[in-house]
Amino acid sequence: MKCLLGLLLILTACKSHDSESLDYFDVGIIADCQYCNCDNSTARYYKKSTKRLQDAVDELNTKDLNYVIHLGDFIDRDFASFDSVLPIWNKLKSDKKHVLGNHDFSVADSLKKEVMAKMGLSKRYYSFKAHNWRFIVLDGNDLSYHGAISEVKKKETDSLFNRLKKDSLPNLQSWNGGLSKTQLHWVKKELDDAVLKKEQVGFYCHFPVVRDAEVHNIWNYRQFLELIKDYGNVKFYFNGHNHHGDYIEKNGVHFLTFKGMVDTPNSTAFSVVRITKDSILIKGYGREQSRRLKMN
Ligand SMILES: [Zn+2]
Repeated sequence: MKCLLGLLLILTACKSHDSESLDYFDVGIIADCQYCNCDNSTARYYKKSTKRLQDAVDELNTKDLNYVIHLGDFIDRDFASFDSVLPIWNKLKSDKKHVLGNHDFSVADSLKKEVMAKMGLSKRYYSFKAHNWRFIVLDGNDLSYHGAISEVKKKETDSLFNRLKKDSLPNLQSWNGGLSKTQLHWVKKELDDAVLKKEQVGFYCHFPVVRDAEVHNIWNYRQFLELIKDYGNVKFYFNGHNHHGDYIEKNGVHFLTFKGMVDTPNSTAFSVVRITKDSILIKGYGREQSRRLKMN
């Protein structure tokens, strides 16, 4: 009897460590590793990204993470850059996710079609689930002058770009991009399905969307904000691209721009994010700030 009681206690203890039964889970976030074998620019120290990524992977591997996500611009220039950083990235013990950034397409035109497979992506935008969450990964290069590959997408790129010209928006830059009608339609379906299944939603994208007059925004960010505004289950929107970082809360959604790993001569930036029932806790490394974001 004593023996049986002991076994029950052990099983109960094991159960409480089962990650699905925990009240929280952790994820790793890196933005703008942006490696290339290039000379420094004003703020970017491209060659240092291999060591910074290695150090981040070593640290993240000491944690029990549900997944690690890179928020785009894994490389800068030259398809061969992937071969310097992917072997490091692949040492991550957790699941690994990529978001497509504009610089991930700064490769020879003939190699643009190879980018997704190289990064292990079967879709340019996709969603996945963990615990009671649905994470929606957007492709802000869907319509763009660097990442639109099919003739249909190139045509839609021109049409959106020309349509927005009349508004003289500062973010209408050739190095930004937009969301296609098909992608926006897909986002709506994902959100509706998440409501039905009582899931909370977090967005990942390379580009920011929230501040008016922000030069880094997705071209049709207003359309995107209009789409998500009635969904109370959307809790966060995390992105990179603006290496200085940014944060604003709007209508219960936490919009956080993570700082770029490639910047500055001697510091890194990455995070471990703990998602609990009522908060998102950012533990920042290097230049990334630690924060507690409350969820309603
Ligand atoms: Zn970028």
